Amino acid sequence: AIQYVFLRLSRMLAVWMVTDLRQDLAEHVLRLGMRYHSGRRLGDLLSRMTADTGTSLRILNLIIEEIVQEPIAILAGLAVAWAVSPVATAGILVLVPLLALPVWKIGPKVRRRSQKSLAALGDTTQSLTQMFGGIRVVKAFRMEEREAREFRRANDAFVRSTERMIKAQAASLAITAFVASGGIGLALGAVALANTPVDGRPRLFQDPGDLVTFAMAMMAVVGSVKRLTKALSVVHTSLGATTRVFEIFDLKPDVSDRGDEEPFAGLQREIRFEDVHFRYEGQEESALDGVDFAVRKGERIALVGPSGAGKTTLLDLVARFYDPTSGRVLVDGRPLTSIRLADWLDRLAVVSQTPFLFQTTLAENVRYGRPEASDEEVLEALRSAWLEDLVANLPQGIQTEVGEAGDRLSGGQAQRVTIARALLKDPEVLLLDEATSALDSESERRVQRALETLMEGRTVFVIAHRLSTVRTCDRILVLDRGRIVESGTHDELVAAGGLYARMWRLQIEADAPA
Ligand code: ADP
Repeated sequence: AIQYVFLRLSRMLAVWMVTDLRQDLAEHVLRLGMRYHSGRRLGDLLSRMTADTGTSLRILNLIIEEIVQEPIAILAGLAVAWAVSPVATAGILVLVPLLALPVWKIGPKVRRRSQKSLAALGDTTQSLTQMFGGIRVVKAFRMEEREAREFRRANDAFVRSTERMIKAQAASLAITAFVASGGIGLALGAVALANTPVDGRPRLFQDPGDLVTFAMAMMAVVGSVKRLTKALSVVHTSLGATTRVFEIFDLKPDVSDRGDEEPFAGLQREIRFEDVHFRYEGQEESALDGVDFAVRKGERIALVGPSGAGKTTLLDLVARFYDPTSGRVLVDGRPLTSIRLADWLDRLAVVSQTPFLFQTTLAENVRYGRPEASDEEVLEALRSAWLEDLVANLPQGIQTEVGEAGDRLSGGQAQRVTIARALLKDPEVLLLDEATSALDSESERRVQRALETLMEGRTVFVIAHRLSTVRTCDRILVLDRGRIVESGTHDELVAAGGLYARMWRLQIEADAPA
């Protein structure tokens, strides 16, 4: 019973510590800049956050319970046993492997119980995948805090189910210990037999008291050896994992407020790029290499150019996912860095080419744009995104859960949900990354119509892949290898016969029916 209480307490202590660690880590990572998010493989990050902190849990358990305790117990036990009878001590060591048997039998039970805890861990992992898979959305909508709260919920569920598992584990360990003692009893019986007096003189022990002492010592030793072997096998990998977790804490958010920002009353005149250079960490080549242009309030700008030209990077600089390596982004003449990040992001919405939906209700997905919006406002946004039919057909209307990557919805519908999200936010500046993958022409038309509604009256930057989109833009910037190589309207650029003209000729050929 004492063992049960001790195990439960020390293990729960470790669970709390690790869950805390994981929460801190999640919050820290949410605050890190995009540089970090795009620079590392998502999987690596997730494995650090879950497995590594999990391994830290294990190492904490082990450190607390075993590494310190057991060797002392073993040495003490053996010393006592040896002092009483060296021969019997040696004999017992031969019998020890037999004791592993009952322990082995009980193992699967614990394993079954631990599945539930693992499932809960799976949920926290899923919530992480959500957060970091949609990090552009999370950041653009400034939902870091909400995501951290969500994560806390998943994390708490994990603590509860782990507590249940630990109860079972502690109980079964106690049982195991009991059974093992039974085994030792048998072994000691054997020793006792071997001790039958010959010629009226006990062979091994002179005194029955010695036998008892010996028995106690051996019992302690066996238990300790068992736990220590297990501990040592894990400790090596755990140490590596722990260092990796702390590496993450050493990273600094790369875009943050300095504290001397001034209030921002909204975009008045223009957004200007002034000789902007940007290089990704560890890259030789600049992604943007001296970009100069200005966009007037209410203007629609299309960004076109070959893949890798720097279009996404340019949008990311407007969203302040990164700050320029050199040069400035100016808003009405003020450096973007002098505006509080939150104030800027409040005026901005991002719609990306891969619609990112969170694993929650349709309403919550739309409300991500403005958490305090009423159901009526959410419905209105959905209507404007031409999703009325969808809402009518869902079993619980806007309260229907939409699955991961929106598996209840078609690609076009998911895209329009993200448009509704942006509509509800009602931003001044809109950053669009048009989908390259072809939707069927009907849903394409609907997405297009919804986008039209969304772009109305706003300052728009759109990475365009379709002729229909560029035609509605006031100006086209053609990027190539980090530079603006051409700019003008569609007709002007076609007439100029440069890169743009070549690109669109190819596009038209590709689109023409064979
Ligand atoms: P586009 O959107 O026009 O395809 P990008 O802005 O995505 O171009 O990329 C511009 C350049 O920057 C490319 O050479 C690309 O390989 C590089 N790049 C983009 N993102 C990263 C990143 N996270 N880390 C390192 N290099 C990157």
